[in-house]
Amino acid sequence: TSSGSDTDPSTARSAALFARASAVIPGGVNSPVRAFHSVGGTPRFMAEASGYTLRDADGTEYVDLISSWGPMILGHAHPAVVEAVQKAAATGLSFGAPTLGEIELAEEIVRRVDPVDEVRLVNSGTEATMSAVRLARGFTGRTKIVKFAGCYHGHVDALLADAGSGVATLGLPTTPGVTGAQAADTIVVPYNDLSAVERVFAEYPGEIACVITEAAAGNMGAIAPRPGFNEGLKRVTTDGGALLIVDEVMTGFRVSASGWFGVDGVAGDLYTFGKVMSGGLPAAAFGGRADVMRYLAPAGPVYQAGTLSGNPVAVAAGLTTLRHADAGVYAALDANATRLGTILGDALTAEGVPHRVQYAANMVSVFFTEDEVIDYAGAKAAQTWRFPAFFHALLARGVYPPPSAFEAWFVSAALDDRAFDIIADAAPHAARAAA
Ligand code: PLP
Repeated sequence: TSSGSDTDPSTARSAALFARASAVIPGGVNSPVRAFHSVGGTPRFMAEASGYTLRDADGTEYVDLISSWGPMILGHAHPAVVEAVQKAAATGLSFGAPTLGEIELAEEIVRRVDPVDEVRLVNSGTEATMSAVRLARGFTGRTKIVKFAGCYHGHVDALLADAGSGVATLGLPTTPGVTGAQAADTIVVPYNDLSAVERVFAEYPGEIACVITEAAAGNMGAIAPRPGFNEGLKRVTTDGGALLIVDEVMTGFRVSASGWFGVDGVAGDLYTFGKVMSGGLPAAAFGGRADVMRYLAPAGPVYQAGTLSGNPVAVAAGLTTLRHADAGVYAALDANATRLGTILGDALTAEGVPHRVQYAANMVSVFFTEDEVIDYAGAKAAQTWRFPAFFHALLARGVYPPPSAFEAWFVSAALDDRAFDIIADAAPHAARAAA
C-alpha cells in the first residue's frame, strides 16, 4: 500500500504545497484534522471537485466520503447551487443590512424543524453553540452547563472539555488557553448515560442552565443515542428548569429533511445548525422556542451579533441546497450509507479483522472492536492503531475517507454505481492492510 510519504511521486505537488503552507500557516492547515496528523503522510491539497469526485493538486481523483465534513449532500459544484451563488455574488457580496434571502432561509429551517420557532443566522457552528449557551444562561439566570464526553460543539472555550473530533485525534484531554474559570461551570458526563445526568441535576439543584448534546454523536465516530436517551434528556432538563440544546450542526438536514428531530421526534428548547444549511459556504444558525429566542438583542437583553451574519452569497448556497434536498436526496443518502457500510463491513469480515460498522442514521463509522461503541471510552478503547493502514490503502485506490478514527464518514447523494465499484475494489485491500 502507499505510504503517502513525501517521496511518493503521486503526491509531489501536495507535498510541495504542504511545505509551503507550513511556513505561513500553523501545521500547514486551517483546521487540525486536515493535516493527516494521526494517519501520517501527505495531506492532499485539493484543486477541484464535482459530484462525488475530488481532484487533488497532482491530478489524482478520489471518491469523496467526507463531503467537506458534512455540507455537500448534493455532491460538489451542484449546478443549481453554483448558479445561485454566482447570481448572488453579482448582485452584491455583503450589505450589512437585512435581505429577503435571510427570511427565506429562516422560513425554510422553521418549516422543516417543528420545535424551531425562530432562528438567528451566524457564520459557523462554533458561533451557533457559543451563542446558544450564552442565551440559555441569560434566559435561565444560571451558570452551569452539562456536556457529554466525546461530543464536539466547535472550539468554544467552555465546550472544549473532553471534546471529540480533532481534539480526540490529537489525543488532547483539553487545551491550554482555556482557563480554569472558563471551564469551571462545564460538567462533563459520559454519553448515553442518563443516570449520570440525573445525578448531576440532583447535585446542583437550580444551578444548571442547559444540557448540550449532539443530536446523535458524530465526533467520536458515529454513535446513535440509545433508545430513550434524548427523550430522557428532555425530561430531566424540563423537570430541572434547564434548557436542552440539541446540536444538529452535523445531523441537521443530513439525516432527514428535518435532521435528527425527524428521526426521534424529541423536541429540544434550542437547536444549532451549520454544515448542510450552508451549502458549503460559511453559514450556520441557532434557533428554538420563541420565548427563549426573544431574549436576544435587539429585542432582548442577551447580546449576539455578526458583521457577515446572513451573508447573501452564503444564504443563496444554503437555501438552494435545502430546496434541492427533497425526499429523493434523503433516500439516496440513506441507501448510500448502507451500501458503504456493507462493503466495508464485508471486506473486514472476510479478513477476520475485529470491527463494528456503526450508523447514526446515514452517518457511518468503522470501529476496530467487537463491542458496540456507545460512548467516548468505548471509542477510545477500539484498536485505533489499525486505522492509518486502512485509511492509506483506501486513499491509494482513489477513496477519500476522513483521516481520523474518531470521525463519521459522510456520503453524498451523488455517489453512483461507478463510485461504489471504486470503493468495492479498494475495500479488500484496506481490510488486508488493517489486519
Ligand atoms: N457542532 C457539531 C456537532 C459539529 O460537528 C461541529 C463541527 O464539526 C461544530 C459544532 C462546529 O462547527 P464549525 O466547525 O462550523 O464551527
